[in-house]
Amino acid sequence: ALAIVPAERHRIRRDQVSRVALRVCDTLQEAGHRAYVVGGAVRDLIAGIEPKDFDVATDATPDQVRALFRRSRIIGRRFQIVHVMSGPETIEVSTFRAAHDADTIKDEHGRVLRDNVWGSIEEDAARRDFTVNALYYDPATQTVLDYHHGVADLQQKVLRMIGEPRARYREDPVRMLRAVRLSAKLGLALDPAVRNPIREMAELMENVPAARLFDEMLKLLFSGHAVECLKRLRDDGLHHGLLPLLDVILEQPMGEKFVLLALTSTDDRVKAGKPTSPGFLFATLLWHEVLANWDARKARKQVSMPALYEAMDEVLDIQAEKLAITRRIAGDIKEIWALQPRFEKRSGKFPYRLLEQPRFRAAYDFLLLRAGSGEVPQELADWWTEFQDADPERREAMQMADT
Ligand code: ATP
Ligand code: MG
Repeated sequence: ALAIVPAERHRIRRDQVSRVALRVCDTLQEAGHRAYVVGGAVRDLIAGIEPKDFDVATDATPDQVRALFRRSRIIGRRFQIVHVMSGPETIEVSTFRAAHDADTIKDEHGRVLRDNVWGSIEEDAARRDFTVNALYYDPATQTVLDYHHGVADLQQKVLRMIGEPRARYREDPVRMLRAVRLSAKLGLALDPAVRNPIREMAELMENVPAARLFDEMLKLLFSGHAVECLKRLRDDGLHHGLLPLLDVILEQPMGEKFVLLALTSTDDRVKAGKPTSPGFLFATLLWHEVLANWDARKARKQVSMPALYEAMDEVLDIQAEKLAITRRIAGDIKEIWALQPRFEKRSGKFPYRLLEQPRFRAAYDFLLLRAGSGEVPQELADWWTEFQDADPERREAMQMADT
């Protein structure tokens, strides 16, 4: 049943909403359409979090939207949406649509008959995942349209699924990861009906395309709440089988302190609005796997550096089966790893050559984490901290003292 929630209950102020999103809604409404700010932004504003981006939902078709905004373009094929650009901002405008039901749009040969299945606002609300994500803010009346008690759930701090959780996980297993990520971000408890099936249904994740899983893992790891997400996954035993990467992260006694340091520093950087690097973070998450693999090879008398390169490839290959780590990121990861043994060589020209490496800074930050977790002596990290900024005389003295 639809609840129309007034401003004194949802407490969103108009000036908290992006001006571009407000203008998009106004323009659409003046042209006779329905238009609302929708989804994550409404949810975040009610929860007191500043939204990352603003989406708009409307009953206008993509062509109608496109015609109203000079700087806009239609994207997507199956489900077209419109990007409306203004200055640095892009507002995603999507037409209300019904749940995607494969049978209704395909003929007997499985051919897609209709590409865009538009629907009513009620259907649009029902196809969303969690009640807190199905809220529509109307800037004109400053009310929130709430079809699934999302405002109350948000205020009572529970994450509830729209519909039957098992069925919704079968439709899209990624919702299991979204449940944990959103509950950590918003400080919500998982409704038991949302939590309980995850353990037994985790294996459905195997059917999710590796590229989509990689996107979801990036969202989780760079949410600013990665430590909290992983803690929740582990406390509930939800990580088993969910993803090999999570097993690696959460089941390595040796690497735990190291990974925690890396994730904590990533969370801090995200919260402070500083840049982050997926390559660096993935390098930390998988480092102890590489170390174990490398040690085993050295024990088999393989030559050290070739053994390291083989260990790196093997560890990345195992992850690649489930998680499509992009080529560029895999390259970043390997560069950081391959430079690590070179920090041990402090004599002669070696340290000067290392300083000239384009990836020195990342590799050095990585070394600091290794020292912080006790894997290498703090003295080694301190030496490099001083050496990189020392004048030539001091550098020479440092090298002398070291031999
Ligand atoms: P974030 O804070 O990461 O942006 P979000 O909930 O806004 O979280 P988006 O991926 O931006 O996540 O999705 C926008 C909206 O689309 C969601 O609020 C939800 O209503 C809907 N949605 C996203 N993913 C799914 C899904 N897997 N199943 C159903 N609805 C979804
Ligand atoms: Mg969003």
